[in-house]
Amino acid sequence: MTIFSADTYICDSEKLIASSKKTAQVDNKVIYLPGTDCVVRPKVSLAGYTSYRVGGPAEWYVAPRDITALEASIRYAYEQSLPVTVLGAGSNLLVSDCGIPGLVIGTRHLRHSYFDPETGLVTVAAGEAIPGLAWEAAEHGFEGFEWAVGIPGTVGGAVVMNAGAHNGCIADIFVSAEVLCEDGTLRTFTSEDLGYTYRTSKLQGSKNIVTQATFQLQPGADPAVVTATTKHHKEHRLNTQPYDKPSCGSVFRNPKPYSAGWLIEQSGLKGYQIGKAQVAPRHANFIINCGGASACDIFNLIRHIQHNVKENWSIALEPEVKMIGNFQIA
Ligand SMILES: Cc1cc2nc3c(=O)[nH]c(=O)nc-3n(C[C@H](O)[C@H](O)[C@H](O)COP(=O)(O)OP(=O)(O)OC[C@H]3O[C@@H](n4cnc5c(N)ncnc54)[C@H](O)[C@@H]3O)c2cc1C
Repeated sequence: MTIFSADTYICDSEKLIASSKKTAQVDNKVIYLPGTDCVVRPKVSLAGYTSYRVGGPAEWYVAPRDITALEASIRYAYEQSLPVTVLGAGSNLLVSDCGIPGLVIGTRHLRHSYFDPETGLVTVAAGEAIPGLAWEAAEHGFEGFEWAVGIPGTVGGAVVMNAGAHNGCIADIFVSAEVLCEDGTLRTFTSEDLGYTYRTSKLQGSKNIVTQATFQLQPGADPAVVTATTKHHKEHRLNTQPYDKPSCGSVFRNPKPYSAGWLIEQSGLKGYQIGKAQVAPRHANFIINCGGASACDIFNLIRHIQHNVKENWSIALEPEVKMIGNFQIA
């Protein structure tokens, strides 16, 4: 029985299609997008593009390096009637073993960053890695991003998820994001537009693609001090969370006033395993891939945890991880 279907971003821009004069070239099923250095490839395994190291193939995969190539990718999807799924670092995703139909757009090659030493404003492309950005901010003596060093996602994913740690989160420093909207226009969204709450933004489930974001940090601090705080946060993570095994970080949102990890631990599930997926002995809100897990193992463990916590506590745990594709109940 199919119980979960694709959480996809489908862009159907009239504007983009209207501007398309040339058609893409097909060469042994590899598609060269006209006017760009962009190549759309068929049947690309996504296991290597997700932090769980599981998941079947993208029907089509493309990783644009700039906005022109991103627009061309979306135009191609529109022309071919393909649904679009956006993939950052894949660190909050469970991709089904069956893979993802349509076009998967990987943002990891959208890269640039600018630190303004006068204002403390930092403008970064969607594909920049959050840990690298935290270290770079520290080296520049910019305070305000030390908490983010242990979050292995991209800027785009962090803006969409309102990623956070150590009592800090994206909403605290967010100024604006440049977003490629469904109608093909590039718009600037403010914090108000995104309606940030705990690990949530209005971008989740929308058809918009974050291309870059601007954050407000505090410049002029001693780089050695900021680096030391950043290092402290990183070490704390390494000591308390299972970074040595593939995972997606916390699987469930914390149902306040409880922590999901505590509820799972109290339900006797620490170390519980289905196939090669295990509730991490070190942190019960992590599910780790012990080596060779399938997406189905992880999915069934998620369901098992939800069932047990509901039985014991009458609390419905809500997954923070985004599940993409079709899953079967065992
Ligand atoms: C070891 C580990 C520790 C973690 N610790 C934390 C933590 O402390 N705090 C925390 O908040 N999270 C944590 N996470 C989860 C994860 O890193 C964050 O949610 C992160 O923000 C996801 O970013 P990503 O680029 O990997 O997004 P992905 O996982 O690739 O995507 C997440 C969602 O965002 C969408 N998306 C991604 N990029 C874009 C874009 N440019 N435009 C539009 N939509 C986009 C995707 O379609 C998907 O719906 C952890 C994960 C791991 C593996």
